Order: sequence, then C-alpha cells, then structure tokens
Amino acid sequence: MKIALSGYYGFGNIGDEAVLAAVRQKLPQAQIFILGRSWSNLLTLLSCDFLLSGGGSLLQNKTSNRSFFYYIGMVALAKLMGKKVMILAQGFGPLTGRFNRWLAKVILNRVEIITLRDRQSLEQIKKLGVNKPRIELTADPAFCLSASKQTAQPTIGIAIRKMAIEDNYQVLAQAIDWLAKQYNLKPLFLPFHHPEDYHVSQKVAQHLTVKYEILNEPAKILETISQLSLLIGMRLHSLIFATMGQVPMLGLSYDPKVAGFMQTIGQPYLDANQLFQLKSLENQLEQIMGLHKDIQKTLGLRAMELKALARQNFLILEQLISNAEFSNIDFADIQVDNLTLEESASKVDEFIKDGSPHLIVTPNPEIIVASQKDQELKEIINRANLRVTDGISMVVVSKILKKPLKERVSGIDLMLRITENTERKVFLLGGAPGIAEAAAKKLKCKVVGTHDGYFENEQEVIEKIRVMKPEVLFVGLGAGRQERWAIHHLAELGVPAVMTIGGSLDVISGQKKRAPKIFQKLYIEWLYRLITEPKRWKRQLALPKFLWLMLIKNKLPS
Ligand code: UDP
Repeated sequence: MKIALSGYYGFGNIGDEAVLAAVRQKLPQAQIFILGRSWSNLLTLLSCDFLLSGGGSLLQNKTSNRSFFYYIGMVALAKLMGKKVMILAQGFGPLTGRFNRWLAKVILNRVEIITLRDRQSLEQIKKLGVNKPRIELTADPAFCLSASKQTAQPTIGIAIRKMAIEDNYQVLAQAIDWLAKQYNLKPLFLPFHHPEDYHVSQKVAQHLTVKYEILNEPAKILETISQLSLLIGMRLHSLIFATMGQVPMLGLSYDPKVAGFMQTIGQPYLDANQLFQLKSLENQLEQIMGLHKDIQKTLGLRAMELKALARQNFLILEQLISNAEFSNIDFADIQVDNLTLEESASKVDEFIKDGSPHLIVTPNPEIIVASQKDQELKEIINRANLRVTDGISMVVVSKILKKPLKERVSGIDLMLRITENTERKVFLLGGAPGIAEAAAKKLKCKVVGTHDGYFENEQEVIEKIRVMKPEVLFVGLGAGRQERWAIHHLAELGVPAVMTIGGSLDVISGQKKRAPKIFQKLYIEWLYRLITEPKRWKRQLALPKFLWLMLIKNKLPS
C-alpha cells in the first residue's frame, strides 16, 4: 500500500522528525512517500492510495499564507484525484481571513477523517463549520515512540526557540543560573531546530555564570531528555518528550499549542510573549523541584493516556485502509462505531492482544441526551476506543436518516460475548454488595475478582484490581459516574479492556429481569422497564428527547 505524507518533514526539526518516525513505526507495511515542494508531487499523489496530511500545525497562517495554501492545496489535489484523505493528528489554526477560512471549510468537509492533537484545535475546526468527516481528538503521534523512565542526572534541559522579547533571554539566564547553583545542576541546551535554536541557546548561555553545554548532536534527544532532572521547554516536542520520560517541566508558551498542551498534562507554564519576572520564574522552578516525585508519578499516568490516544490515530487509519465501507456515526456529536456484535468482540480481542489500556463504552439515548449538557461526558465517550450502540432507537433513527447502523450492540450482549471465552480473566466492579459475586457464578470465564459499586476507599479498589491483573474490567457504577471513573483511572489500572456496563450485573446475577424477547423484538424494551421500574419514568424521558434531538433538530450530518 502506498501512502503520500504531507508535512514539515526533512527540514531537521526534531519534533516533526519524531512524528515521522512514529508514522513509519506504526505503518511498517506501507510505502511512505513524503511530498516535497515540486511538481513531482502530482505524480507521487497519483501513484498513492491515500494522503496523510500531518502531523504538526499545518493549517494555520500565523507563519505565512503560502504554507497554508500549500498544505490545503495538497489535500484539495488528492481529493480531486479521488484519493482518500486523513488529516493526521494536526493542531489547527490560528487561521485568519474570510477566504482562507472558507477554503479550509470547503476542502476539509470533503476529507474522510480528521484527527486533532488538542482540544482547542477540535473546537476551532468545529467552529469553522467542518462537520462532514469523522473528527476525533487524539494526541501527538510522537507519544507512540518508546521512552522509558531513566535515572535522573543532575542536569537542567533548556529547549528554547526565538523569543519575541529580547530582555527575556537575560532574565531566563538569571533564573537558570539561580536554579543551577541552588540544586547543583548543570544546564544543557537542546536545540530542536538547527541552526536557529542553537543561536538562541547561545544568546541565553552568554549570560550564564555557571558551566553549561549546548548539545550539538540531535540524535537520541528523547533519551537525553528522559535523563534530565528538569526541563524548561518552549518547543512543544521537548515538552512531549519530557512527559514521556516523566521529567518535571516548566513550559514557556509562545503559541496557544504550548499552553494547551501544558493544560492537558496539568503542568505549569509561563507566557513567553510577556516579559518574564525573575522572582516568579524562580518560584515556579522551586515549586517544581519541591514536588518532583509527585510530578513524576502524574506524568507517568498522563503519558500512558496520551500514548493510548496517539495510537488511536493509527487504529482509525487502519479502519480507513482496510474497510472501504468504514464508518462511524455521529449522534448529536456523540460518535458511535458502526460494527456488528461479532466485529465489536474482535475489536476487544485486539485490545487485549495489544495490552495497553482501552476504554469501551455503550452510548444509549440517555447518555446522548445527558452529554448535550455535559461536555466532559461527551468527550469521554468520543475518546473511548470502542463505542457500541446500546439502544434500538439509535438503529431506527440511523435508518430514517439514511446512515444505517449495522445492528444494535447492547452492552450486556457484548459483555456476555466477551465472557464466553473460558480462559479470559475478568474483574467485575459494581452493583450492590453481593451482586457482582452472584453474577460471577453465572459467567463462563475466569472471574479473578469482584467488588461492589458502593465503595469509599477508591485506592483500595484500584489496588485490588491491579494485583489480579485481569484482561477485562467491567464497570457498572451507573451511567455518567462509571464513564468518569473508568477514564480517570484507565492508565493507573493498566487493564487492556475496561468496559462500562450500567446495570448489567443486576441482570446477569438474576436480581433483575431483562425484557422478554417479544418486547425486544417490538422495540418496546423501554415499556417493560417502565412497567417493572416505574421510578425510572424521569430517566425514560430521555427517549423522546433523543428522538426530538435527532429527527426534529436533525443533528445527524448527511
Ligand atoms: N451503581 C453502583 N454504584 C453507585 C451507583 C450505581 O454500583 O454508586 C450500580 C447500581 O447498583 C446498578 C447500576 O450501577 O447495578 C445502575 O447503572 P445504570 O443506572 O447506568 O444502569 P442501567 O439500568 O441504565 O443499565
């Protein structure tokens, strides 16, 4: 398979080259052709099956209009040639000018898939009016590269680029000097883009009174960063590498993408477009050194989450490559995967084989309605690795709107299908005391542990799950809470497949009855639940609200 890749490659920028390395690593079977700046691009594009545009921030005109026209032009060209296009893990914007924005909207609405590496970009692209392709929030592909925690050396890394304020060079040097003396650390400058960053590093270094080094050899930079005690980083990928190597850091934000990334990982940053204050720089650095161990732990968890998201870029691409009729469907901004029960079960098999943590959720009309007012829930569902359609009304609506779902895949059916494998190790979490144990007796797989859903000591429950090393964890803590709990602890739990299941344990244990087949066939399971659990009437208002949302407001893009 031949893939054309459009991006800022081959110019010696360490960040972009890391993205390229990740793309090559994740697509070992593909022949990758990097588009250059000549007419031969036409021939390259013609001979390829797909165009991948990204990563990096290509669709912006902060640097120049020319580069925006070039990158969007490549996308337009590929579409004119009838190629499939994926915008890969890009940062989007800032894009100014009415014509530019109109052009981006028209062309991007014609690509197959857009993945974006940060939330601001996702918001910007939606604001632009791009709503036709599948759009997902992922993470920078560089997170797919392997990095390990190294023993920290007494070194401070500094990865800076040109700054708008000349005076900042001196203030920064004073802060580095102070830190180096205070903690006995040696400054090591890490130029990410030669030769510009090298010159900037020299500008700061000339003000230092302590011994320093400027790294000349860009190879092994990820390993070098993993060994630092602390990083002061302006270059986005220096901060990404520090996260991967669990190195505490201070971000210096020259562009919203840096501030956005620091917010994602919950770490401190200063605005590099303002004059630095020496005292505040020193305070920030002192605080980081004081919390060193805690920060390392947090970064370990964030890195795992971001790695899983980065992999999502390639899982989605694989779907595009392998399956012409690939699709996922948007229900009022909630994405669901259009798969059969069998296809969903094999996805779970893949997750288990892969070994890194994955989240499986079961969006139903209630969740779709709730997520209209609950942005966090919406994001969790959209970020999950597999989202099955847990509601027959969703299938009916999809047919009316002429984007038919293959079938309904209810959470409980998928759970029963996954647990048919007698060798599979699962953990059941949720329900009133005794329910999970009773359900365990009914399942055919190896239930390695259970816990009820009304616990107070969260850490104890997490530890109990971790030591049992299940392959699948089923979480039934009630809609909303279970999704938040699962995503929040996903990395920490380290379980390859974590699936939310609502009240399935109540049904499997025999405590509650599932609607008889005839109710299921007539699409009136809701009526059965209303009769058997009249207290739920309020929750059931979600169904008419869902129908109104989908059919009257008609949010489903055509
Ligand atoms: N649940 C729980 N802990 C809680 C709240 C709920 O374990 O703090 C369990 C409850 O016992 C039941 C399930 O969550 O087993 C209900 O979830 P939901 O209402 O989402 O299920 P549905 O009935 O919609 O499938």
